[in-house]
Amino acid sequence: MIEIKDDWCKGCKVCIERCPVGALEESDRLNKKGIRPPKLKEKNECNFCRLCELICPDLAITVIPDREVKKDVKKILLSPTGGK
Ligand code: SF4
Ligand code: SF4
Repeated sequence: MIEIKDDWCKGCKVCIERCPVGALEESDRLNKKGIRPPKLKEKNECNFCRLCELICPDLAITVIPDREVKKDVKKILLSPTGGK
């Protein structure tokens, strides 16, 4: 999973150009600055290498590897309070 803070993006496209598997593309929506931030392509090829997170000059991207998401879901399922 990739979290993109759309409004932090300045549209430099470094993440799109440098992703080693071409997993990102410009989205259709505009952010507060009138810029189209990146999004994952419909066919998700992301391998969680984190390059986009590291090179984004505006720290707009956070990469959350799937296993971390699964661990969180497991924690919630195992918790008697449902993770609250
Ligand atoms: S590298 Fe960061 S600022 Fe540049 S387009 Fe990607 S998300 Fe936006
Ligand atoms: S984590 Fe790596 S593979 Fe995934 S979108 Fe970012 S640069 Fe591409």
